[in-house]
Amino acid sequence: MSLIENNKLRADFPALTQKIRGKNLVYLDSAATALKPWPVIERISSFYSYETANVHRGAHYLADQGTQNFEASRDKVREFIHAAHREEIIFTAGTTASINLLADTWGDKYLKKGDGILVSEMEHHADIVPWQMLCERTGAEIVVAPITELGNLDWGQYEKLLQSKPTIKLVALTHCSNTLGTYVDVKKAATLAHKSGAVIAVDGAQAVATRPVNVQDLDVDFYSFSGHKLFGPYGIGVLFGKKEILKDLPPGPGGGSMISLVSFKGTSYNDIPYRFEAGTPNIEGVIALKPAIEYVQRIGFEKIQAIEHELLTYATSELRKIPGLKILADVEAKAPIISFSMQGLHHSDVSQILDQEGIAVRAGHHCTMPLLEKFKITGTIRASFSIFNNKTDVDQLVKGLLKAQELLS
Ligand code: PMP
Repeated sequence: MSLIENNKLRADFPALTQKIRGKNLVYLDSAATALKPWPVIERISSFYSYETANVHRGAHYLADQGTQNFEASRDKVREFIHAAHREEIIFTAGTTASINLLADTWGDKYLKKGDGILVSEMEHHADIVPWQMLCERTGAEIVVAPITELGNLDWGQYEKLLQSKPTIKLVALTHCSNTLGTYVDVKKAATLAHKSGAVIAVDGAQAVATRPVNVQDLDVDFYSFSGHKLFGPYGIGVLFGKKEILKDLPPGPGGGSMISLVSFKGTSYNDIPYRFEAGTPNIEGVIALKPAIEYVQRIGFEKIQAIEHELLTYATSELRKIPGLKILADVEAKAPIISFSMQGLHHSDVSQILDQEGIAVRAGHHCTMPLLEKFKITGTIRASFSIFNNKTDVDQLVKGLLKAQELLS
């Protein structure tokens, strides 16, 4: 039975009830950010309406409630990614902030001249630039692990680089490419990294909403993700780190909450994870991350993957029929992300015509300039699908692309 003909999950997303430029919204930009379902919207609204209070230092009812809800969200994240300990869950502003925090703490403590950071060719800028900045501070070097034409890590090269000079101390890999949709077998990458004495940090921004993540089974040392790609709020994310590594790290930014005792002679720092959470946090963001995760859990990854696979298969077969359209990493085993170019047409012109039809896609480099350089292109059109998309969305996309071809050729 088709899951995408009459997709009942659409009713959970109020954004889909609106018209854009007089047309029904066709939202194909979930890789950039997910639409929000009612439970998340209602939770944020309730917090602002009735529950406003600061957390962790209040001496009144609302502050206590807020703190309990805030910490309940930490427990939910722990359960969701199967971390062993709640202290391993650090709240940040998002994936970018998580990776920067890691670079500023772990990186500054352990990296030096002669060391290497191994990244893949398909990393998002958020998993490149913080490491480059760290290299500037420490004298360490970035080493690039190539990927194949089909968007898979080149395992032979990966293993070889792990054994070469400079000494790889850190492997930083995406779990899923935001441009290609292809996954990295991070369990295998972690086994090989550990065998050669490196730690591994995984960028899970695209993966967490599409597949179950078990950080213990994957045996990764760090794992980062953002709330907003997981149907949750903006400005909130997570850095998971193994307890035995986190406990030896220096703090992140300084300020309130991250301290134990402060005097003008000096300061002692709080325990993990609070040592990394200075200042008033994004309270409603953390609290509303819980209903976002619960929403995903209620649907279940089995169903999520079945819907997304059907969307990917149908969309791929329909797009392949369009003359001159070329899909990057045209493989079946990937997240529901399709990046493509159209012969003779500029990606921005195509996306503008789609926009006139109420179709939201992303066009450009998708914050992966080095990856596009490898493919010798400057941008793609990216259609990314999620649990609420249906067959009509795909049909509308195809119609819009044919119209773009007609108007622009
Ligand atoms: N990594 C990947 C793979 C991403 O897709 C993104 C978001 N496009 C990021 C990192 C950065 O996430 P954020 O902007 O939420 O910090």
